[in-house]
Parts: sequence; C-alpha cells; structure tokens
Amino acid sequence: MNANQTALKSRSASAFDVERIRADFPILQLKIDGKPLVYLDNAASSQMPQPVIDRLVRYQTTQHANIHRAVHTLSETATCEYEAARRKLQHFINAREEREVIFASGTTDAINLVMHGYGRKFIKAGDEIILTTLEHHSNIVPWQMLAEETGAKIRVVPINDAGELLIDEYEKLFNARTRFVGVAHVSNALGSINPVKHMIAFAHAHGVPVLVDGAQAAPHMPVDVQDLDCDFYAFSGHKLCGPTGIGILYGRAALLEKMQPFKGGGDMILSVTFEKTTYNTIPYKFEAGTPPIAAAIGLGAAIDYLSAIGMDTIAAHELELLNYATEQMNHMPGVRIIGTARNKASVISFAVDGVHPHDIGTLLNQEGIAVRTGHHCAQPVMQRFCVPATSRASFAFYNSMAEVDALIVGIHTVQKVFA
Ligand code: PMP
Repeated sequence: MNANQTALKSRSASAFDVERIRADFPILQLKIDGKPLVYLDNAASSQMPQPVIDRLVRYQTTQHANIHRAVHTLSETATCEYEAARRKLQHFINAREEREVIFASGTTDAINLVMHGYGRKFIKAGDEIILTTLEHHSNIVPWQMLAEETGAKIRVVPINDAGELLIDEYEKLFNARTRFVGVAHVSNALGSINPVKHMIAFAHAHGVPVLVDGAQAAPHMPVDVQDLDCDFYAFSGHKLCGPTGIGILYGRAALLEKMQPFKGGGDMILSVTFEKTTYNTIPYKFEAGTPPIAAAIGLGAAIDYLSAIGMDTIAAHELELLNYATEQMNHMPGVRIIGTARNKASVISFAVDGVHPHDIGTLLNQEGIAVRTGHHCAQPVMQRFCVPATSRASFAFYNSMAEVDALIVGIHTVQKVFA
C-alpha cells in the first residue's frame, strides 16, 4: 500500500466509523462458501439495516390494516404511518408539498406512470422526446412504446469516450417539436453523474419538462428537487436500504394535476357511477388499489436511517471508496475501467483482458465477492463502448476500504486463473 492509500484509509476511518455502520446490517455477517461476503452489487439492490427490518416487523405485528378506508384504530394507525412515510420522503428530496410524492412500486413503475399520465396526454405525432445514451432500459422502453403508439420521435444525446454526456449536442437537439426530456441523474452502468441542473434549466428555457431518473443518485448524494427544479424525479426503495416493491415519483403539483391517471381502481376516485368517474386529488389519483403499505413505511424507516448518517457523509465516504478502487485498478495491467467521467458516483465498470465478464463474476463469487456482470439493462451504453457486457463493482456507505482491497486481490486471482 502506498502513502496515499494509507492516508486515504486512515482519513476515512477517522471521519466515518464504517465498522459501527456495518454492525447494523445482519446480512453483511454472511459467509459465501466459507469466505466473508464482500457485497459490491449495491447498484442493483442495497442491503437492509436492522432498524428497517425492525420497523417492518413492528408494523406487521402491531399496526397493519388497510389504509384510508375505515375508522377502526388499526386502519387509522396504518394510514397515519403511511402518510408519515410520505412526509419523510418529501423532506428527503425537499419537495414543496407532500402531495407531490407518489408511492410507486419502483423507478420503472414511476417512469411508466409519467409516460402514461403525461406522455399519452400531451405528446403527439411528430413531437420529440430527448433521452440520453446513458439511460437504463426503464427510461428508454416506455418512451419507445409511446413513440410507437403516437408517432413521436426519440432523439438521443451522445456521450464521449469517458462516458460523459455531450452537452453541446444535447442543446442542439432542441427545436420547436421538443416536448420532453428524460435523463438519468447517475448512470447505473458507468457511474457518470450528469449535469442535470444545467440540462433542466436549458429545457425549461425552451418550455420543455424534464424527468430525472434518480435510481442511482438518491442512494448516494443529497437530492433537492427544488434546487434541481426538475418536473419529475423517480427512485426505488430497494437501492436505498428499503424494501423491494416501493419507490417514489416526485412530480411538480401543477403538472400532476393536469395528468391523467395511470391505473384505475379503488382509492383513486372521488365518485363512481356507470356514467362517470371523478378522480381523487393528487397524490391519490395515482395510487390505485391497496398500496404496498408495509414497504412504504419500511422505506420511511430507511430514510430515517440514512438521514441520521447524513447524505453528505455517505457521499464523502463512497467517493473515497471509488477513488481508492479507481487508483488501484488504474495500476493493474490488463484491467480497463469503462466509464471515466470526471464526475462519478459509486460505480466502477471494468473489463479484464482475455476474460469474459461472466467468468470474472463467477470467480469473484468463489472469493465471496458479489459484483454484477452483464449489460446492466443499459445496452446502448454497451454498444457505445463496443462490449457485450462489463463487470461492475458498486459501492454503498457500508463498504470498507478492506473490501476494495479484497476486490483487487480477487481480480488478481482471476487474472492468474486465466494467465
Ligand atoms: N434506472 C436506473 C438508473 C437504475 O439503475 C435502475 C435499476 N437498476 C432502474 C432505473 C430501475 O429500477 P427498478 O428496477 O427498481 O424499477
């Protein structure tokens, strides 16, 4: 270890007690084939700390009933807790009003809500939707479905060899037919942090609303939707130490009011006759049927947990992990990092000469190290870099410098096996 690395390690240890944090996560004690688990697949899904697990158990054992529909005590308690979770999310992203937070099943569901609720109402034949090369499939496919249905066109912002959006090209794509922009805050495949605040301001100067896919940003940095001035912001609970099956769509109230519902059913109505249905107010207009009540309350507990640590603290620790891992990998012959943007968060995609990514994943797993291999649901990124797949290590705040070391040793082992 060089002096720089030693300094990094001790600085991080003094600023952030990762071992104390790790003790909150029972799953991190697991052994895989006798080796300590090194969990570096956080971009796919993060792990859950004991306070969130405990909150789910407390809800199920003492508070569960259906919400919004009864006057009995349990239903009122569950309703209060569900709405309290909404307020926690409102504060987490600094939304102006709690009715701007809609519970969805995740980022994918939230983006589909915008496509159906906004896109199908306001985007017509010949209109243009701007997306970027860096999008996850869930911010591509819904818009393609809309384009197919309406005759709208999709325009794509290119990237450079570092995996950064070409902002000049983005600006050139705007014309009188531009109706919508969808952009990832952070790329799940490369980790690039996109300059979304600037992109939003530019789109607004042309009267165009912007949806930000925050699935890979919300878990790793403070998010302020008022400061970004975005129109929509989506993320998933399971990447944020919360349960699966829950996420949110933030939407600017004035836009949500104008949108049509995505799903029809109970709870999203004020009155129903066979002649006419009057829809409920926002956010309920977009929450048809019994929502994932327990998951929403669990997500609220995850927000409490993360907020107690502080998103700034989390971002700083993860940047140290990223810088430390990047520096080590840059010194490994035969290892190439894919995605070298100046502004990156928590993700390292890499290739090892002569070894297929799936073999890397399999051999690392034998060392107890969980990384993801594949196209990461971002095939246009793979096409841009002319690779079928990458291996991806993605960090969370509970990862340690020692785990980065384990990854590096693991990659050396892979290279030896294939030498
Ligand atoms: N967008 C991005 C950038 C993602 O990383 C992911 C998850 N990999 C999604 C969207 C989809 O999230 P979910 O599967 O939770 O709906």
